[in-house]
Amino acid sequence: MPVLAPAVVGGPRLAQERRLVTELPGPRSRELAERLRGAVARGVSTTMPVFAAAAGGGVVVDVDGNSLIDLGSGIAVTTVGTSDPAVVDAVTTQAAAFTHTCFMVTPYEGYVAVAERLNALTPGDHDKRTALFNSGAEAVENAVKIARAYTGRSAVVAFDHGYHGRTNLTLALTAKNQPYKSGFGPFAPEVYRAPLSYPYRDGLDGAAAAARAISTIEKQVGAENLAALVIEPIQGEGGFIVPAPGFLPALVEWCRAHDVVLVADEVQTGIARTGAVYASEHFGIVPDLVVSAKGLAGGLPLSAVTGRAEIMDAAHAGGLGGTYGGNPVACAAALAVLDAVVADGLVDRARRIEELMLGRLHALQSRDARIGDVRGRGAMIAVELVGPVVGEPDAALAKAVAAAAHAAGVIVLTCGTYGNVLRFLPPLAIPDALLLEALDVLDAAFEATR
Ligand SMILES: *Cc1c(COP(=O)(O)O)cnc(C)c1O
Repeated sequence: MPVLAPAVVGGPRLAQERRLVTELPGPRSRELAERLRGAVARGVSTTMPVFAAAAGGGVVVDVDGNSLIDLGSGIAVTTVGTSDPAVVDAVTTQAAAFTHTCFMVTPYEGYVAVAERLNALTPGDHDKRTALFNSGAEAVENAVKIARAYTGRSAVVAFDHGYHGRTNLTLALTAKNQPYKSGFGPFAPEVYRAPLSYPYRDGLDGAAAAARAISTIEKQVGAENLAALVIEPIQGEGGFIVPAPGFLPALVEWCRAHDVVLVADEVQTGIARTGAVYASEHFGIVPDLVVSAKGLAGGLPLSAVTGRAEIMDAAHAGGLGGTYGGNPVACAAALAVLDAVVADGLVDRARRIEELMLGRLHALQSRDARIGDVRGRGAMIAVELVGPVVGEPDAALAKAVAAAAHAAGVIVLTCGTYGNVLRFLPPLAIPDALLLEALDVLDAAFEATR
C-alpha cells in the first residue's frame, strides 16, 4: 500500500511513492515537448522533459501518471511542499478577496505582516525594515540600490562562483559565463570579484581565505569606494560551497570597520532550508541586509530585502517598489509558510534530512573515490564529483548520474562552476522512506556509471 503524506506536510494527498507506468518521458510529455519546441524560446531550457500534472509531499506526478521523487523543490522553492494545504487555503482565500491593488497605490495588511515577520525572523535584534519584490534577482538589485543610497559609494564586490540572478546588474554579480552571461553583455559597471573560501579546493582556513579576499578588495577596489559586499552564506548554483569557519565573520568585521554594507544573498538558503531559518546563523553572523526569495512563499513569486532600519530608510520615498512587488496573494502564501516554519518545526525537519542524507552519502563516498566531497547543511546537500587525477572536476559523470536518476524517476539537479556537483534540495515535506528510496536510486545510478 502506498503511504499517504500526512495532511500537515502533504498537499493533495498524492500517494507518496515512486511509480513508473511509462518510459520517461511518456507519450503525453513527448507531445507537449513538441509543442514546447514550437512555442517557447530556446533560451528557456528544462532539466527533465517531463510535464507536471500535480505535486505534493515529496512527489511530482506527470501527465502520463508517473510519480517522480522530488529532490529539487523547483530549485529550493517549495520548502513546505508543493501544495501545502495551509498555503493553498491562504492563496484561495486571498485571491477571492482581491488579487492586486498595488501596494504603492492602496496598501494592504498582508504586506505589512510579512515585513513584520521577516524583521523578527532575520538574524539580529536591531531595528529593521523590509521591502518586498517579485524575484530573487530583483531583490538583490534593490539591496545594491539601498547600499549605494546609504553609503554614497558605487562599487560592489561579489565572489568567485557566486550566483545572484539573470538581470543585467545581477549578471554582473554572477560569476559563471556559460550559460548565464555569454553574449548578453555589456554588464553593469563598478562590480568587482573577490576570491571565496572553498575548503575542498583551496585548503585554506577561514582566516586565511578572508585575508586573501580582503587583500584583493583593498588593492583592487578600496574600502572608500565600496558600497556593499554581496555574498551567499552557502553558495547555491556555484556548488553548495560551505565556507571555512571564520571566513564570513572576518568579512563582517572588515565591513563594520569600513562602513561597507554586508548583503547576505539568502535567496536559496533562507527560510529553514539549511536547518536554520537563515544560513547566516550557522556562522554566527548578522548581515546588514538579508535577501530572501525562493523558500518564502511556497512557490508564489515573492522576494524581500530586510535590514538595518537606518540603511533601509536611506532610499528616498518613491525610490523603491514596483507594480507587483509584495503581491497580496504571494504575501498570504508567505504568511502561511512562515507559520509552518515555526508550527511544523521545519528547521528541525531540515536537520533530520541532513542527518539522513549525509549518513548515506558518506557511506557511498567511502566506496566510490569519484565522490570527492560531500557537503551542505540541512536539506541543501551536494556531492562534488572528480576524476582519477586528484580533484579534476568530472562534469560528464555528474551528467550521467543525473540522467540515470531521471530515467529511474528521481528529480535531481546539477550545479557548480565546473558542472560537476549533484545537488539535493528535497521538499521538507518528503517522507523519510521516500528520501531513502531516492538515495537507493542514486546509489544504483553511481553503480551503473562505473
Ligand atoms: C536563484 C537565486 C537568485 C535569483 O533568483 P530569481 O528569483 O531566479 O531571480 C539569486 N541569488 C541566489 C543565491 C539564488 O539562488
